[in-house]
Amino acid sequence: MNIILLGPPGAGKGTQAKKIEEYYSLPHISTGDILRENINNNTSLGVKAKSYMSRGELVPDELLITIIKDRLSKNDCSKGFMLDGYPRTIPQADALQMILTESNKKLDAVLNIAVDDEELIERLSGRRMCKCGASYHVNFNPPLKDGVCNVCKGQLYQRDDDKPEAIKNRLIVYKKQTQPLIDYYNRKKLLRTIDGSKEISQIFEDIKSVLEAL
Ligand code: ADP
Ligand code: AMP
Repeated sequence: MNIILLGPPGAGKGTQAKKIEEYYSLPHISTGDILRENINNNTSLGVKAKSYMSRGELVPDELLITIIKDRLSKNDCSKGFMLDGYPRTIPQADALQMILTESNKKLDAVLNIAVDDEELIERLSGRRMCKCGASYHVNFNPPLKDGVCNVCKGQLYQRDDDKPEAIKNRLIVYKKQTQPLIDYYNRKKLLRTIDGSKEISQIFEDIKSVLEAL
């Protein structure tokens, strides 16, 4: 199964991706995680990406296309994959199409997780991350012990781009550059819209129903 999780920042893509990864054994490919890892390791890609990310802007398409081409060629993607945070622009979606065609693969579904702006701002402002990839929310999905990751006991932190100015910008960027993908995939008959305003476990049940029906 080859799927994309689409949706605005804070919609719950990463949260649902962890559940889908575990349940369906699909590799979870988050371009945001890949970029943050490069920033932490001070690679040349990380250095290039850092200023765009902290402002809440998109990193240039050519960098992302190289990342995704490389990642999809890895062995663990041979039986399927789940993209989270890619594509975010029409050129990225066109590039993905070419990469898949070259390797005789196709997309099975694009899950569009829909949540309104007010809720997104609340979710992003309260999000707390762990270096291990786990994500929490101070009110909606708190860790068992304040500030400490349930999984690895690491210390939780707030992402730079989850601060108010960057959140505002990311929602503007989403509407301008990423939202057109809803139409793009709808025309290809791949789009399945999920109501992302429900509880985390209920959304996962809805996603399973959609995936089982494919
Ligand atoms: P995305 O990957 O789409 O940016 P996340 O999965 O990181 O979003 O979720 C953003 C924040 O909202 C996190 O703090 C997460 O714990 C919280 N969250 C995710 N899904 C829900 C939900 N259905 N209801 C309430 N909070 C949620
Ligand atoms: P995310 O973790 O998906 O919220 O992404 C965090 C940030 O990484 C985004 O605001 C962008 O700056 C950058 N990023 C992640 N994925 C992409 C992408 N596909 N295209 C451009 N920039 C990206």
